[in-house]
Amino acid sequence: MPQQSDKNLSNIFEELNKLSFRRQQLTDRRNVLALLVQFKRNNGQNEQQYSRETGELKEIDEELTVLSERKIELEKLQEGGSNLIETTTSSSVIFVDNPPPFPAPQVILDVKQLPRHSSQTQCPFCHQYVTTEVMTKSGSVTYLVCFISVVFGCVAGCCLIPFFLDSCKDVIHKCPKCRSNINTCKKF
Ligand SMILES: [Zn+2]
Repeated sequence: MPQQSDKNLSNIFEELNKLSFRRQQLTDRRNVLALLVQFKRNNGQNEQQYSRETGELKEIDEELTVLSERKIELEKLQEGGSNLIETTTSSSVIFVDNPPPFPAPQVILDVKQLPRHSSQTQCPFCHQYVTTEVMTKSGSVTYLVCFISVVFGCVAGCCLIPFFLDSCKDVIHKCPKCRSNINTCKKF
């Protein structure tokens, strides 16, 4: 009999884990959609033009409500189950939602503000929401650092080092969909 309730508990535990993962997914998606709607609204588009997004937002909200109800149900079951065991082990397990592994992705709409790493933005050419691909290219700083190392007597190839250091180079953001150059982050 104790084995049976152990098994039930681990099932409940597993379902709770899945549930909180799904909730996280939905919440992330919801954040992106909300941003999109806000952006479209700010750009003077009327409600019909973002009805698809608001429709999806509503669906997500409904699913989140269902998930919350199921979560409460499971937690009650789990309390009942762990009470059974508590008589022998006198320990109870507290379930907490997993924290998101990283902060919610931020969509940067002004391409001039893109940081030196891959980020989410709207491509100004194909108007799709994309995560940029980044490439590095030797820029003026690379040549400057190379020149300075020659002046200070670095020979035997030391002056070539800046060409292998990404931090000395310009970063190019590319659109993965239409392959255009979205922006170049110059070192200076
Ligand atoms: Zn594009």
